[in-house]
Amino acid sequence: MTERRVRVRFAPSPTGALHIGGVRTALYNYLFARQHGGDLIFRIEDTDSNRFVPGAEEYILESFKWLGILFDEGVSFGGNHGPYRQSERREIYKKYVRVLLDEGKAYVAFDTPEELEAKRGEIANFQYDASTRMQMRNSLTLSKEEVDALMAEGKQYVVRFKIEPNEDVHIHDLIRGEVVINSSILDDKVLYKSADELPTYHLANIVDDHLMEVSHVIRGEEWLPSAPLHVLLYRAFGWADSMPAFAHLPLLLKPEGNGKLSKRDGDRLGFPVFPLEWHDPKTGDVSSGYRESGYLPEAVINFLALLGWNPGNDQELMSMDELVKLFDLNHCSKSGAKFDYKKGVWFNHEYILMKPDEEIAVLFRPVLKANGVDADLYSDEFLTKIVSLVKGRVNFVKELWDQVRFFFVAPTVFAEKDVKKRWSEETPRIMTELMNVLRDMEDFSSKPSEEVVIGWITERGYHMGNVMNAFRLSVVGECKGPHMFDITELLGKEETLARMQRAIDTLK
Ligand code: GLU
Repeated sequence: MTERRVRVRFAPSPTGALHIGGVRTALYNYLFARQHGGDLIFRIEDTDSNRFVPGAEEYILESFKWLGILFDEGVSFGGNHGPYRQSERREIYKKYVRVLLDEGKAYVAFDTPEELEAKRGEIANFQYDASTRMQMRNSLTLSKEEVDALMAEGKQYVVRFKIEPNEDVHIHDLIRGEVVINSSILDDKVLYKSADELPTYHLANIVDDHLMEVSHVIRGEEWLPSAPLHVLLYRAFGWADSMPAFAHLPLLLKPEGNGKLSKRDGDRLGFPVFPLEWHDPKTGDVSSGYRESGYLPEAVINFLALLGWNPGNDQELMSMDELVKLFDLNHCSKSGAKFDYKKGVWFNHEYILMKPDEEIAVLFRPVLKANGVDADLYSDEFLTKIVSLVKGRVNFVKELWDQVRFFFVAPTVFAEKDVKKRWSEETPRIMTELMNVLRDMEDFSSKPSEEVVIGWITERGYHMGNVMNAFRLSVVGECKGPHMFDITELLGKEETLARMQRAIDTLK
C-alpha cells in the first residue's frame, strides 16, 4: 500500500474569537503537516447559522497571520478541494444525505419540539434511538404516502442517523489509544435540518474530511465524544478504509489545574485567552489579546507548543523550525495541560533576550509614541543602544519605557528618598567640580569617561558611592538604571551638564 499523503485541517466555527486552545490545535496540525511535507487546510464550519458571528472568520485569519501559522489551502488560500466554507457546500451535503436515506441508513423525522418535549416528560432519560424511534413520528413509523404528503405540505423535518444498537465501536486514537464505546449509548443524531437546508456539524464534518482527503483529524478532546458517531458515519458511507486517523489533544486546564480553562480565568488572573484583542460585536465587550498585551508571536508559539506536548527531554526554547522537526503525537499527553500563564511571560522574556536589539528597537518606537515621545527624533542606532542596556530587565517591550524614560524626558523632580540619602550640603559643590571635569573631557564615551571620573574621585579622596549616586540622581532623577557612563555617553556632554546644573539649582 502506498503511503497516504498527510492532509490535516483546522476547521473552526466562526462563533467568536478564537480561543487559545484552538490556536494550539491549529499549531499542532501545522507542525504535523510541515513535518510530513503534507497540507494544512483551513475550513470554515459555519452550518450553525444561529451561532454565526460577523468578523470571526477575519479575526481567525489575522490571528494565524500574526502567529506565523500558514495554511496551504482553504478559505482565502484557494485549492482544488473547495469551496472550503461549509455554507457554500449545501448541495454536496444534500447529495450525501440522500445516499443515506436511500440506503435506509438514515430516516426523516417530523417530531415537533413540543412533541419531543412531551416524550421527555413521559419517558425518563428519553433518548431518540433504537429503543424509542418506533414510537415517534418519522419515516420508519409513517407510511410512504404520509411522509410524502407531509413533505409536500412543507412540514419541517430533520434527517436522523439510524444507529444500530449493541455494537462496540472502536476508535484508535493516536494519543489516547483504543477507545471503545457501545453504540447503544448513542442517540440517532440529527444530520440535516430542512428548516435551514443545512447539515449539522457531524454530517458536514465527515463528508468534508472525506472529500478533502483528510488523513489525520487532530482536534481538541471536547470532540472525542463525537468520534464513535463519526466512525459509524464513515462506515455507513462505505468510507471506512480511507477514514482519517484520530488524535484528540488534551484539555487546557485552569492555571490551578482544576477544570477547564475559561475566559473568566484570564479575567481573574490577568492574562489573555485570545490571540488578538477581540471586540464582541454583540455585547461590545473587549477582551485582551496576546498581541496587544505585548507578547511576541514566537514566544506564544513556543509556550503553546509545550502545553500538552514535550520533546522527550527538558528542552524548552524551540523555534518554529525546531518544533517542526521535533513534534511527535506520541509525545502528547493524555491528561490535561495546566495553563501556566506565568510561563508564557517567561517565554516572552527569553524571546526578547534572543531577538536582536535592532528588532526590539523597532518594536519600541510605538511604545515611545504612546508615551508622548516624538520617536522620529531618534535614530535606530540610538534606540538600539538604549535597548541593549536594559532589555534583560523586562518581560515585555512596553516595560522598556519605565527603564529608559529618563533618556527622553529630563528629570524635573528627584526621588525623595534618594535625595535624602545621597544629596548633602556639600553635594552641589562636588557636582559643580564634576561638571568641570566632564566639560574638559575630549572623549565622552563610556569607558574613557569612567576612567577619568573614577580617577578624579580617588585623587580628591571623595566617597565613591556618594559621588556616583549624586551624579546619577542628578542625571536620571533617581538612583536606578543602567551603567552610569553608558547613560552619559548616550545623552552626550551638553545634556548631561544641563541636567546636572538643573539638579543643583533645584536641590540646592
Ligand atoms: N468546527 C469544529 C470546531 O469548531 C471542528 C471540530 C473538528 O475539528 O472536527 O472546533
